[in-house]
Amino acid sequence: MTTDTSATEHTPRATGTPTLEITDLRVEIEGKPIITGVNLTVNQGEIHALMGPNGSGKSTLANTLMGHPKYTVTGGEIKFQGESILDWSPDQRARSGLFLSFQYPTAIPGVTMINFLRQALNAVAGREIPVREFRTRLNEKMALLKMDQQFARRYINEGFSGGEKKRAEILQLHMFNPKLAVLDETDSGLDVDALRVVAEGVNGITGSNPELGVLIITHYYRILNYIEPDFVHVLVDGAIVKSGGKDLALEVENNGYENILKELGLEGAGGSRRGTL
Ligand code: ADP
Ligand code: MG
Repeated sequence: MTTDTSATEHTPRATGTPTLEITDLRVEIEGKPIITGVNLTVNQGEIHALMGPNGSGKSTLANTLMGHPKYTVTGGEIKFQGESILDWSPDQRARSGLFLSFQYPTAIPGVTMINFLRQALNAVAGREIPVREFRTRLNEKMALLKMDQQFARRYINEGFSGGEKKRAEILQLHMFNPKLAVLDETDSGLDVDALRVVAEGVNGITGSNPELGVLIITHYYRILNYIEPDFVHVLVDGAIVKSGGKDLALEVENNGYENILKELGLEGAGGSRRGTL
């Protein structure tokens, strides 16, 4: 055998094209560097958790993936199913199968869930989906998620509880059937009901769509009690400082981020944000 071991070391773990491939990504907001060199690959069917202290740049990464205009990519690459998406509009990204949990508006007076979902689904599909087809799909997904049919008739986010907002989000996730779901669990503190909704929804879809890649972004460990990640990454000051399996999330849960920073000789990292670790 004349195998060149130095070459095989760089062979990707999975066969086929990674769903998401982020290479040395750098992002600025209004001229301020926030993401300072992120490398992250999500293959088909993998669940990744991205953890990190408040202000480490987790939501910035999510917003950048969505193509939010406020976030300027100053270096590196984002490939989705093998293609660079840096020049793609948020719409194009959604159409290609990239789902971001917060892509629905916070509240639209007078718009029901059902209307919103229909419009959004048409936009993502790039065609007018016949009402009958839409209804069938909606009913099927709502049944799967054990949702009351009445829920779809409510005005979007008007008086929605934390759990109901998440339910709406998970319903979208199931309706769109994306290739990659990026779920930014904002640090506002979901109640246990909302956590369960997210977890059951994600577990439900990974069961019915085993190719779906998931990137769960969270400050807290809690959601990982309900969703088993294959990989865990810790983001500090805009860079992934450590990656591992579920053990890493447990380590964060037990010892906080402080310990990981110490171990890596990054005690100064986090700067003024250390108080929020
Ligand atoms: P995390 O989600 O990890 O808590 P963020 O990505 O929200 O962190 O924030 C990272 C840094 O970027 C923080 O210093 C924050 O103040 C800054 N930042 C995030 N979004 C904006 C924005 N829209 N405008 C200005 N600064 C921002
Ligand atoms: Mg955030």
